[in-house]
Amino acid sequence: MNKTVVITGASKGIGAASAILFARKGYNVVLNYNQSYQSAKLLSSSLSGQGFNVFPVKADVSNKLETDFLINEAISKFGTVDVLINNAGISISGTINEMDIHDSDRIFDVNLKGVYNCCKSVTPKMISQKSGKIINISSIWGQVGASCEVAYSAAKAGVIGLTKALAKELAPSGITVNAIAPGIIDTTMNEEYTIEEIEDFVSRIPLSRMGTPDEIALAAYFLASDDADYITGQILGVNGGYVV
Ligand code: NAP
Repeated sequence: MNKTVVITGASKGIGAASAILFARKGYNVVLNYNQSYQSAKLLSSSLSGQGFNVFPVKADVSNKLETDFLINEAISKFGTVDVLINNAGISISGTINEMDIHDSDRIFDVNLKGVYNCCKSVTPKMISQKSGKIINISSIWGQVGASCEVAYSAAKAGVIGLTKALAKELAPSGITVNAIAPGIIDTTMNEEYTIEEIEDFVSRIPLSRMGTPDEIALAAYFLASDDADYITGQILGVNGGYVV
């Protein structure tokens, strides 16, 4: 029987690359989106057209009722959730004094509370089946902090703490919880930076380039695989050697 993965924020970027990879590898894919209905529909139709099992579900991860809905839809459609990839995220830059309080609240609500909500929605099912893999997408900024991204860095650091704590709590139930901390990845999230700023980042990356969404998807696929059964509570940096 095919395994089932729920991927949050799979309408574009890293989430979309993960949806494509997991579908090609034979997973049933629950493709979550929030605002980008057209992109989600296009991707899901394209994958379904190739014979893959893909099911798009709209849900705002910052809302627990909606994450319950997302997980329940996945279970109704495919019977189980084997893997949850908490990928949905937003980025808004600005100094702590410039940042609108609604923007920083939204960053915490989506990037940290969204991960917590999805974990809370999925754990009853995973505990009852005594198996599951949870993969949280954090960030290098959650490890080292970024100027003008205080809320984002704090939320992503929170994801690291959540990952380590939940890994200990769920290990007796046969569930692993790990995080990926991507460096600079070539997605629309980085469109706010100028070419000069991107060149400055890249000049400090030992592998001399940005990462691709596919490279994060491959790391997530490894952590979801049986090959990673003895790995839990870990934060995997996928960053081209970029350590600040
Ligand atoms: P992206 O291209 O902007 O995609 C973000 C995704 O998150 C979209 O599919 C979006 O869906 C979804 N999303 C946003 N708010 C949501 C909500 N409330 N509920 C459900 N989905 C929501 O960004 P990306 O670069 O692929 O980022 C993916 C993850 O990697 C994020 O957690 C990000 O923080 C992390 N990350 C990225 C980088 C990087 O350099 N790109 C580096 C480190 C970490 P809709 O458009 O449908 O709302």
